[in-house]
Amino acid sequence: MKKGDFKKYKIATIGSHSALQILKGAKDEGFQTICVCQKGQTKPYTSYRVADEIIEIDNFQHFFKIEKELMAKNAIVIPHGSFVSYLGWERVQQLKCMHYGTKAILEWESDRTKERLWLLDAGLNLPAIFKHPEDIDRPVIVKFHGAKGGLGYFIAKTPGEFYDRIKEYPHEKDYAMQEYIVGVPIYVHYFYSRLTDELEIMSFDKRYESNADSIGRIAAKDQLVVDIKTSYTITGNMTLVIRESLLPKLFEMGENVVKSSRKFVKGWLFGPFCLEMIIDKDLNFYVFEISARIVAGTNLYIEGSPYTALRYKEPMSTGRRIARDIKQAVEAGQIEKVLG
Ligand code: AMP
Repeated sequence: MKKGDFKKYKIATIGSHSALQILKGAKDEGFQTICVCQKGQTKPYTSYRVADEIIEIDNFQHFFKIEKELMAKNAIVIPHGSFVSYLGWERVQQLKCMHYGTKAILEWESDRTKERLWLLDAGLNLPAIFKHPEDIDRPVIVKFHGAKGGLGYFIAKTPGEFYDRIKEYPHEKDYAMQEYIVGVPIYVHYFYSRLTDELEIMSFDKRYESNADSIGRIAAKDQLVVDIKTSYTITGNMTLVIRESLLPKLFEMGENVVKSSRKFVKGWLFGPFCLEMIIDKDLNFYVFEISARIVAGTNLYIEGSPYTALRYKEPMSTGRRIARDIKQAVEAGQIEKVLG
């Protein structure tokens, strides 16, 4: 028996990152949608017919100015990468409007120390971390905090190389040095529902990074001549299916991350999340990051992925899966299971 009418709720997000997918998925599930756009950036959301309503603000950082309006419309806000990055995880905690997912988990994905504690507790294999440049005894990847899409990352093999390269970034004080793993990067798109208590693997992607993904187009001797410095600036995402025998391990890893989150965060991890890893030639998995919300790589699968085709009769994107979670929660009279 249906306890609640989901049509009383609207689905809202800010117009960036994976908003097209989220809003399209919500409409496919029968929700009315709201897109909060920066002035002058409404075109994709009107052109692709995903937004029933558009609210324009000067800057996403002014989101709180329209929060009351969203509350009056009974909107549930879906966080995504840009939402968290524009508002900051601290300000997300202050939201009073309905928010899909546990807000507090966003601190754990944003803080490197907390993230590491969590992933190690889940039994995952992580690249080694170097605290002091003097300790560098193998290739490390140097990452700046809050770096937008890998911009400026560099590789160093020795303390000398590190000090040489860091000169190019005199104002950067906040960086992490991670063991560089030679292998292939894989992004696993998970979904965990508290209604079904089940973990799903929705899809995979790999990133298209400049210039890392183009260096192989130049002969090694030419690479040396032009003194290429590898960088990892994200420019797009590519589809991927995984060797099937690796799937059991990936399910286990995702389940352990959810289980372990219960120890650290009230409300724990649910909804979409992504484990970002390198798999080396011996099939060791090195997880270098977790995103505790929808990732942009899922945009490849607005019409569903080869994996969601196995489980669902209809095209199931991660955005649509979120909307379905909300719909099922409302209909079961358990909306608290999707809010946090
Ligand atoms: P991130 O900003 O942490 O998502 O990393 C951006 C990119 O850098 C990834 O997509 C990988 O290509 C690369 N990367 C990050 N960490 C490592 C690592 N520990 N070893 C090798 N490559 C890495």
